[in-house]
Amino acid sequence: MAYYLKYRPQKVSDLDSEDIRLQFSEMFSKKNFPHAFLFTGSKGIGKTSTARIVAKIINCEKRSFSKSKGEFIEPCNKCEMCTSITKGNSLDVMEIDAASNRGIDEMRSLREKISLAPSHASYKVYIIDEVHMLTTEAFNALLKTLEEPPQHVIFILCTTEIHKIPDTISSRCTVVVFKKASETELLNSLQRVVQGEKIKIENDALKLIAQFSDGSFRDGVKTLEHLVLRNNTSLTAEVVKKTIMSGDINEKDLINLILNKKAKEALSIIQKSAESGIDPRQLNHQLLNELRTKLIMEVQTKNGSNVTDIAKLIKLLTRAEGEIKYSPIGQLPIELAIVEYCFERGEVKR
Ligand SMILES: [Zn+2]
Repeated sequence: MAYYLKYRPQKVSDLDSEDIRLQFSEMFSKKNFPHAFLFTGSKGIGKTSTARIVAKIINCEKRSFSKSKGEFIEPCNKCEMCTSITKGNSLDVMEIDAASNRGIDEMRSLREKISLAPSHASYKVYIIDEVHMLTTEAFNALLKTLEEPPQHVIFILCTTEIHKIPDTISSRCTVVVFKKASETELLNSLQRVVQGEKIKIENDALKLIAQFSDGSFRDGVKTLEHLVLRNNTSLTAEVVKKTIMSGDINEKDLINLILNKKAKEALSIIQKSAESGIDPRQLNHQLLNELRTKLIMEVQTKNGSNVTDIAKLIKLLTRAEGEIKYSPIGQLPIELAIVEYCFERGEVKR
């Protein structure tokens, strides 16, 4: 099982974000809790994990015994409700990906189903991921449900793009903002995996991974897993640098090659970097960072001759960033971006 799933937080005290831990223990200490949530924040910072934990807190079979005391109760993670939610096979906890169920029909059928009482749980929980992908009609149908939600239903809407959510929807939800993880929080999350898997790694190496995770718990743990799979020695800062950063590749030189439309040389460097096991996401990140610095410098010095070229390359590599995850060959989206940039005006220097 992938580390990210194996070490997924299962109760509020497991959550690595301190801010979120405090908010939720406070919220669920009270007798009444919100029936509609909107979780917002960038990818990989625990929105869906938290949504499942909420589903367990309110449905855990142990909860009914102690909730009268008015103190915060963690899910037991042992009863049938808790375990079925953890495994993702509870009939009463529905996870819907709005990216692939974005139309009016899906929302209408959801409205029909929610009126039915839960089969085992106290509450039916609807977790709608990437909710900003819904069509306008689907949002309207969802709104009707949020206006008069049945008592036995809890909605948890998740989004990475809050600005695309209509005010009519967000105003009916308790909005929870998931901030990017701090370095300390990332280190805590990585430590849990390091201890669990007995990984030999230097502290400085762990810090490097945290710095390259862009505030995402998921990216951090994935990078650690990538490193463990590729290296069977203990992980030193040196090894980490070589694997996740571009090692001996000089980004400045690579960028100059691309800007000068020397596609052949640029592609051969990308090829070499892939062969030596450099993570294409990290390489792309570094290229974008470097380009951003270059862009700002061009603007500040008012030279500006390269601004449009740099901006164009930034756009192409940003698109590549999104595609790397789904690409069968990791470095292919970067190669395509380079080719598209160099061959755009049909003038290629060899
Ligand atoms: Zn339980």
